[in-house]
Parts: sequence; structure tokens; C-alpha cells
Amino acid sequence: MYDYLIVGAGYAGSVLAERLARDAGKKVLIVDRRPHIAGNAYDHYDEAGILVHKYGPHIFHTNSREIFEYLGRFTEWRKFEHRVLAQVDGQLLPIPINLDTINRLYGLNLDSAGLEKFFEEKREHVENIRTSEDVVVNTVGRELYEKFFRGYTRKQWGLDPSELSSQVTARIPTRTNRDDRYFNDTYQYMPLHGYTRMFENMLDHENITIQLSTDYRDIKQSAEYREMIYTGPIDEFFDFRYGKLPYRSLHFQFETHDVPVFQQAPVVNYPMDHDYTRITEFKYLTGQEHEKTSIVREFPRAEGDPYYPIPRPQNAELNAKYQALVNDTPGLYFVGRLASYKYYNMDQVVGQALTLYRKIRGKEGAVAAVEASAAS
Ligand code: FAD
Ligand code: UDP
Repeated sequence: MYDYLIVGAGYAGSVLAERLARDAGKKVLIVDRRPHIAGNAYDHYDEAGILVHKYGPHIFHTNSREIFEYLGRFTEWRKFEHRVLAQVDGQLLPIPINLDTINRLYGLNLDSAGLEKFFEEKREHVENIRTSEDVVVNTVGRELYEKFFRGYTRKQWGLDPSELSSQVTARIPTRTNRDDRYFNDTYQYMPLHGYTRMFENMLDHENITIQLSTDYRDIKQSAEYREMIYTGPIDEFFDFRYGKLPYRSLHFQFETHDVPVFQQAPVVNYPMDHDYTRITEFKYLTGQEHEKTSIVREFPRAEGDPYYPIPRPQNAELNAKYQALVNDTPGLYFVGRLASYKYYNMDQVVGQALTLYRKIRGKEGAVAAVEASAAS
């Protein structure tokens, strides 16, 4: 008899399994339909012996000291500040757009004050920012929007930026200095021995049973458990009762090249050409030394494994209907990127899982108090 059945061994499921087992002494069965733990953060050594991320580049970054320290119990860290170049008009330029991007693109010699003025002249004042197009044209104007954002977004999402909520392109800042880091966060690190190793350490506890290559639907009748935590797609759980929630998928094309270095940056984005959005060279992310190098190209597509919830108002509305079903079901908790249908980064999922853990413990405490007062 398990206290909890946890569906999915990604961040959401693994953090809850770890907390419930190690902190609360609960017995946990965690299942995943994939043959491995770590969800989309899974990494492994490829045939050449190079550590690659099976589901595309995962770079850890957070502003939360609590989340950083929590994960730090299961891994040592390697300082890594991510940098990305975008191929635009035949040049490789820093993205997020910064002072160097503009000076090199237009052959200018602006300083930060000059760039602020430049953006002020170019930007289109959008009063009510709703879409991913609004965010960018309101900051840098239409020409830069078309060069850096429009094509990439159409490829990645199969939608025009004007059809996507503002939060998608708002993930990318615009800078008037020369800072060329991809993220602004306080903590920017990679797990020293990879993500999978970190998850192995997290789940290494006598109260945790892991069952891989197992869909929970195949065991939900036979397994005995008190409560369930589900981290898969929410619409699938409810048999698509209100219709399908769209998720964006990707095809990953891995290649190993017989050279030590393939490209000039960890990631190169292609907003203007090719069917793929970006190329990642893993050795930059992991710090591994090897005479060869492995890369991955990402080809977006509609069908396949669900990787990205698609942020737009009609999808949020449909999701709200599904979320209401969860709220009506006692002993059932939904958490994570697919179950929440939210475009969460890894740290946000860890934060959400830790919050749910506190809620579960709080509820237990309240029940125990009622029982104690009834008994007295
Ligand atoms: P997942 O990792 O998706 O885990 C859910 C698990 O549930 C899966 O393993 C799935 O197999 C399992 N499951 C589903 N249904 C069932 C079922 N019926 N039975 C059994 N098991 C089931 N975040 C960052 O912070 N930085 C990045 O650089 C970054 N890059 C990314 C790049 C890509 C290409 C993608 C797709 C995501 C990226 N993310 C990044 C986001 C990150 O992957 C997620 O935030 C995080 O992995 C979500 O964890 P999760 O546990 O919610 O979901
Ligand atoms: N984006 C873009 N051009 C770029 C980089 C990003 O248009 O060069 C847009 C695009 O819509 C993308 C979104 O910004 O999906 C968020 O980018 P991010 O790199 O955060 O995407 P993720 O790593 O989550 O795939």
C-alpha cells in the first residue's frame, strides 16, 4: 500500500516524491511511461561519449535562493552563463538584442544613451500590450521585430506572434548595454554531473519505488495508493472531455561532428532561414572536453510528444475548464508544466512542487488536529 502514486518522474513528480519520502516518511510509487527518469531534463552520453540533452538544451537559471539550495542537495554546480547568437542578414549577432547587436547590424557606433534614443525613434507605441508582436514592436520597432522575432516565432509555434500571448516573446529582454547573457537571473548554473545524475540522487530513498516504461493507466486499477499526484497533460487525464489542448512538439536531430568545436556559441538561433529554429552544441553547456562534438537541431511540429503549452487566450480558457475538474476531485493533485498547461521553466516547476508539498503537509496537519480534538 502506497501513500502516494506519482505520475511522471520529471521535476514536478521527483521533487514531490523526494519531499514526501524523505521529509514526511511517506511511501511513494513513482511511474513514468518513458524508460528513464528526469522528464524533459533527461541527459545521457551518446555513442561518441558526449553528454547530450535528449529533449533539447536545458539551462538552469533562477532568482530563488530556496530553489537553488534545494536542488543543490542533489548536485554540485558548474557556473554557466548562457549566450546565444542569432543569424540575421548573414551575420551572427547577440540575442537578446543589445548595444553590440545594433551597432554591428547597422554599422553604427552608438553608446547606451544613443541606443535608447534609437529605440525611441523606432518603437511603435502600443497602448494595450496583449500579444507577442505588441511586446517587441513596442520596445524595438517593426524592422528588428521582423528580423529577430517574427520568423523564429512562426516556425517555433506555427502561429504569428500577433496570435500568441505577450508572455512568449516577453521572455527575451532588450538591453541597451553590452551584456550578452541570455538570462538575467541571480543563479545561473548547470548540474556538474548532469541532470539525470541529480534526479538519481533525488529519488534514491528506501520509501521511493520507481517504475519506468509504465503508463499509470495500466496500473491504476492494480496499484494500491491513498492519493495521486499527476504531472502529465491535463486534457489526456480527463480523456479530452472538453476537446484537445494544443501542445507544440519538436523533432530533435542529433549529429556528432569530427571536430572539437562546431559553432561560435552554445546556441545559434535561425530566425530568418532554415526549417529548424536553433542549433545547440552541448559541450559548451556541460563543460565536457572531447575531441568530437555533438549538436542538436530543433524542428518544431504540431504532432508528437507534448513539449510546450501554447500561450493564447482561447487555450487558457479551455485549460481553466480542465483545472476546475481537478479542484473538484479530493486526493488528486496536478502539478508541473503539462498538468498546469503553463509555459514554466525548470525552476518554476520546482517552486510549484515545493509549494504543493507545503500545502499537502498543511492539510495533513489540519486533519490531525481535528482528529486529536475529536478524540479528546
Ligand atoms: P516533464 O519533464 O514533462 O515530466 C512529465 C513526465 O510525466 C514525463 O516524463 C512523461 O513521460 C510523464 N508522463 C506523462 N503522462 C504519463 C502517463 N500517463 N503515465 C506515466 N507517465 C506519464 N526550462 C528551463 O528552466 N531552462 C531551459 O533551458 C529549458 N529548456 C527547454 C527546452 C525544451 C526543448 C523544452 C521542451 C523545455 C525546456 N525547459 C527549460 C522546460 C523544462 O523542460 C520544464 O520546465 C520541466 O522539465 C517540466 O517538468 P515537469 O515535471 O513539469 O514535466
Ligand atoms: N524568440 C524569437 N527569436 C529568438 C529567440 C526567441 O522570436 O531569437 C521568441 C520565440 O517566440 C520563442 C520565445 O521568444 O519561442 C521564447 O524564447 P526562449 O529561448 O525562451 O524559448 P525556449 O527556450 O523556451 O524554447
